[in-house]
Amino acid sequence: MLDALRRIILKVNAAPNLQEALRVIVTQIKAAMGVDVCSVYLADPEREQYVLMATEGYRQHAVRRVTLAFGKGLVSQVAQREEPMNLEDAASHPRYALALETGEDVYRGFLGVPIIQHRRVLGVLVIRKREACKFSDDDETFLVTLAAQLSGAISHADASGEINELLQDRGSERYNLKGLPGAPGVALGRARVLYPPADLKSIPDREVQDVEAEVKRFRAAVLAVQDELRSLSASLASQLPREDLALFDALVLMLGSDSLVNNAVTRIRVGNWAQGALRDTIIEHVALFENVDDAYMRERASDVRDLGQRLLTQLQPQGLEPETAYPRTILVGEEISAGQLAELPSGALVGVVSARGSSTSHVAILARALGIPAVMGVEDLPVGRLEGQELIADGYWGRVFVRPSPTVREEFQRLEAEEAELTADLHTQVDLPAQTPDGVRVPLLANTGLRADIAPSLRSGAEGVGLYRTEVPFMIRDRFPGEEEQRRIYRHVLEAFAPRPVILRTLDVGGDKALPYFPIQEDNPFLGWRGIRISLDHPEIFLTQLRAIMKASAGLWNAKLLLPMISGVAEVDVALGLIRRAFNEVVEEGAELDMPEVGVMIEVPSAVYQVEALARRVDFLSVGTNDLTQYLLAVDRNNARVAPLFDTLHPAVIGALRQVVEGAHRHGKPVSVCGEMAGDPAAALLLLGLGVDSLSMSAASLPRVKWVIRSFTQARARALLEELSGYEDPLAIRARLNDELEQAGLGGLVRPGK
Ligand code: PEP
Ligand code: MG
Repeated sequence: MLDALRRIILKVNAAPNLQEALRVIVTQIKAAMGVDVCSVYLADPEREQYVLMATEGYRQHAVRRVTLAFGKGLVSQVAQREEPMNLEDAASHPRYALALETGEDVYRGFLGVPIIQHRRVLGVLVIRKREACKFSDDDETFLVTLAAQLSGAISHADASGEINELLQDRGSERYNLKGLPGAPGVALGRARVLYPPADLKSIPDREVQDVEAEVKRFRAAVLAVQDELRSLSASLASQLPREDLALFDALVLMLGSDSLVNNAVTRIRVGNWAQGALRDTIIEHVALFENVDDAYMRERASDVRDLGQRLLTQLQPQGLEPETAYPRTILVGEEISAGQLAELPSGALVGVVSARGSSTSHVAILARALGIPAVMGVEDLPVGRLEGQELIADGYWGRVFVRPSPTVREEFQRLEAEEAELTADLHTQVDLPAQTPDGVRVPLLANTGLRADIAPSLRSGAEGVGLYRTEVPFMIRDRFPGEEEQRRIYRHVLEAFAPRPVILRTLDVGGDKALPYFPIQEDNPFLGWRGIRISLDHPEIFLTQLRAIMKASAGLWNAKLLLPMISGVAEVDVALGLIRRAFNEVVEEGAELDMPEVGVMIEVPSAVYQVEALARRVDFLSVGTNDLTQYLLAVDRNNARVAPLFDTLHPAVIGALRQVVEGAHRHGKPVSVCGEMAGDPAAALLLLGLGVDSLSMSAASLPRVKWVIRSFTQARARALLEELSGYEDPLAIRARLNDELEQAGLGGLVRPGK
């Protein structure tokens, strides 16, 4: 039995598509179990029915013709009960419904098992025998195992729209795809599918005789790509401010970095031709970035791939098709680069749909800056079938509608018009204070780390930087930046925001953020050497950074320090000692300085319980709800499998926040929230009720949250919080908050439309 199981699983996994996987499973099961029929029914939620999708034993013409309404027949019963049904004689069961087209009237023994994925019943796997017989326990476990195996393939096909196509039995039917929200807004347009001009991976090795000529050829390609990037940046200059274009500067810089170019040149000198040397160099660099657990850094892998493609195109220029655009183009691709987005004629681009990436990808950052909706990470994107198709991209919920029905299209046209109104409304708020109607000021600050974030943050009306992630500039280098280099980096952001405050968080690496040049191998990195722990173990790194920050703020005095991953008071005491030492050193060197304010991040549960002891020691607290939620709920913030459990509106998180605010206020210390929660309009309402003193978020979220603050009195938010204290379910809490926004006319902040 085990052998048969293994064989079937292997064959199912090797099937090129779902239809074939289903065919394999029914034929193999029928043969292996010696039954008379094996069939698979799949759920069609739109029509509320189960459809016979594959059978071995019943008449073939019944496939896709036989349907059983939800609630009718034994198949529905199995699905409803979410457990196997093993019946000696199916016909005698009260729920039995005969489908004549199958020719099933002659079968009596019945064993049906549900096919379940992530708690959702996707279909039912059934075996039948002519004679009345109860199947054995072994038969049951065998079928249950195969159903579990099949569920992955089915849910994959469901996400890609393949099931919908099969159910319709027509390739031209509409379907929906699911991805991640990348940039808010909705777009209607036509898909322009981008293909990489050449496949770097398939480049073969080739020996070169004239190594110097080859090196020259490679260096010429590098210069050409640098020029290409600069002119792309120039072509966007009329649409974006200079600072946003820093994105392209970063690519040019990456290309100029010794590690990339020298690496390839070394490979050429060993005797490989430029293309082969490029291939190995790019693969190596991509792996470097991809192996970093931090989502932001993983996205940089796509920049490296983009550079690789551009260089390859220069080295073998034939094959690059000039891209044409539709009047309303939605760019679609396995992986879209910021550069490709910029290549389109201005005005033609209305949306972006990418199989890879997330909201931290450069392309998503750029899309947000341009106000273009983006859906990222659409894993099952059928890129090959989408060219020229009508699409709707919903950047709020990460949905893509392919060939939408007239009703859906009309609905989204209306939503698109409303979105334009909403954006215009939000714009009018930029210079207005973030103040509630009952006079409570809740300063809204920006989270930054990239130079490219500075301009959008300033434009969004941010009152300063609430979280400058200093690890970001560390990550895009190939070694630790020295004191002077760091000073210049920090000075840039401090000057851009002066006199507004900039809270610089000291190096927060480890966990999901490793530096390529400072590898940390651990079994449990999130519970390991992270944040302040590394800084305290390496005072030389910490002191260099502290001195750089203090020197950078000379004459501006707008820098504050924030310590990440604090789990106890001893860490704060030691860190404060080092901060004082750095301060004294800088003063001794002649700089005129005030001691910067120091805050701690509350992102480890122990810090919640020690909040008063911490508040006594520092000037302010900042809650990192991303990590706090991860540690409180024991849910890895980067693991898609448990993503539905990661909810900042969990009552435990709200309870912890309450404790932090009360504890800090008892000592007269302000509390900010700088995790993603602060940028969520529904959560912001709750944070207002909790009495959080300021919020820090990405620039794109800021105008939306400001609208919430300006629309609700703190008294109303408090009353709502009290009401919610009786709620136990995060989903119910979100629904109630969304409802409140809706009633106040702010529903457009949390769903498409106005
Ligand atoms: C957080 O944990 O909420 C936070 C803001 O820090 P980071 O996301 O950088 O870990
Ligand atoms: Mg954190």
